[in-house]
Amino acid sequence: MVLWYYASRFFWFFGGDFIELLFVGILLIIGAVVLFVYAARMFFSVREEKKSFGIPDGRILYSDLNVPAEPLLSKHSRLIGKPDYIVRKEKHCIPVEIKSGGGLHPHESQVLQLAVYCQILEDVSGVFVPEGILVYNNVPYTIPFDPKLRFELESVMKTMRASLRNDVVQRNHQDLARCRYCSMKRYCTDLVREKH
Ligand code: SF4
Repeated sequence: MVLWYYASRFFWFFGGDFIELLFVGILLIIGAVVLFVYAARMFFSVREEKKSFGIPDGRILYSDLNVPAEPLLSKHSRLIGKPDYIVRKEKHCIPVEIKSGGGLHPHESQVLQLAVYCQILEDVSGVFVPEGILVYNNVPYTIPFDPKLRFELESVMKTMRASLRNDVVQRNHQDLARCRYCSMKRYCTDLVREKH
């Protein structure tokens, strides 16, 4: 409003059409430059942030990190899940899962979790998903969603569903630490207990 007031005073003082147009033109150019600089800064800061988190270049189509997102559901595979990100990379959509900590290799269970996201994404989009990405300490690991991983996922799902049908699920490890930090330990009747 203040700007408009001074502009009108300015036009009134000079009273010429040309000056009026010139002034409006200058204002528009300044506005366009400000918008361009702002958009460029946003673009580069988002790109830097993505790089610092190990997220690949490409448009982010889905994010569960900043604001909780709706879970993705595949009725066909009977799977549900929420990847941290879905990024469009060339013609494909790629799920990205960010993990705290990590070691020299991606963990087997986390590779399977990522495989679930690849399968869901492929089912809901109807488009081939060639790979997913696991990020450990800002370092991305590309995991191919190849026939071997697809077969492994299918076989684990079959075993899990068979166990659920039987109502009895056998523990398949003796790892005390795994039970100690398991989110299900409150309900589990078969956890590995510490020896006293
Ligand atoms: S607490 Fe139970 S569900 Fe969790 S890891 Fe141990 S055995 Fe498995």
